[in-house]
Amino acid sequence: MKTKKELLSVHYDEIGPELIIQTYDPDLNFHGVLVIDNTKRGLGKGGIRMTETVNTNEVCRLARAMSYKNALADLPFGGAKGGIAAHPRSLTKSRKKAMVQSFARSIAPYMPKRYVGAPDMNMAESEMAWIVEEVKNRKAVTGKPLRLGGLPHELGSTGYGVFLSSLVGLEHLKLLPHQACASIAGWGNVGSFAHKFLEESGVKIVAVSDSQGTAYREKGIEYEKLLKVKKKKGSVIHYPGAKKFKHEDIYEIITDILIPAAGPDVINSANVRKVKARMIVEGANISLGFGAEEKLFKKKILVIPDIIANAGGVISSYAEHTGKSQKQMFALIEKKITTNVEKLLIEAKRKNILPREAARLIARKRILS
Ligand code: NAD
Repeated sequence: MKTKKELLSVHYDEIGPELIIQTYDPDLNFHGVLVIDNTKRGLGKGGIRMTETVNTNEVCRLARAMSYKNALADLPFGGAKGGIAAHPRSLTKSRKKAMVQSFARSIAPYMPKRYVGAPDMNMAESEMAWIVEEVKNRKAVTGKPLRLGGLPHELGSTGYGVFLSSLVGLEHLKLLPHQACASIAGWGNVGSFAHKFLEESGVKIVAVSDSQGTAYREKGIEYEKLLKVKKKKGSVIHYPGAKKFKHEDIYEIITDILIPAAGPDVINSANVRKVKARMIVEGANISLGFGAEEKLFKKKILVIPDIIANAGGVISSYAEHTGKSQKQMFALIEKKITTNVEKLLIEAKRKNILPREAARLIARKRILS
């Protein structure tokens, strides 16, 4: 982590960042960083990731994205993010635990008064339990195991929000769920739960993909059956009766709803012209590459951006933080996602701007007012 040079290049504006803490543990030889971007609406909320390449600038950008996401979902949270610079796969469990707990000790004075952590890349519910053990406060993080009073993301909160966003989008396109079909790129936590809820509402899922490829079946792919196939054979491509394609082919299939739910920049300058969906609901973060959204806008393809479409996870964090039950958590996601996606689409249409731009304007207004 290039401390001095990076700090000098941090971009400050009327929102933040309010606080940047860089940590170094000479015994374990690793750097960490906590960025609290803005706390005007409430304490800083955002996950802690562990990657080899994470740095202060990346964490600043992610913390700002959290300020916007929390404001847009109208949660009484500010934005923050943490990072631990380490290669998770090269660590033993005990070394990883020592590092996570060392980082937790460094930022403990801020938890949970100004910052509450959560899972992110390579940090899941067990890492959250290590942090609780270290700082001796269950309120320090969300996404904890159920035994610690948590609401883990494994309950499907993010996929549920993606499903609700899709329903609002369908209304916008004047389509009923049973008239619509969907393709889901990346059948993991977010993608599989989006599938389940969409299917229950009557939408037909015609294509799904994972790292091994795409399965396409015009007659539809059933959630329960696919769950068994994936468990038994390791990939969605083995779904009986489905045609197999390369994983990147899913973006070119004719569909009403396309849900990217895997990596970043999957719709980009190379394939954006070939997209044949009527609407894209971003399950994953930054799935649209630079300039892609403007091209989709010109083609009149509706995009519901990640900043609201995948906010189910952080709404679940809020529910956990305020001691709500699982049932209350799902009800809160429904209310917040539906209301705010509707507001966003109306605003984007009224101003004839990208929904992402409308989202940014609404979020900034809420933060700065
Ligand atoms: P996951 O690891 O459970 O699932 C990812 C899926 O993508 C896997 O099925 C994997 O096989 C598949 N995949 C990998 N490379 C692929 C490729 N090239 N083509 C097609 N599929 C591919 O991850 P997740 O938790 O579902 O998260 C997915 C995305 O959503 C990430 O960008 C994450 O940051 C974002 N997100 C997740 C949550 C959450 O609560 N899980 C919340 C907000 C945002």
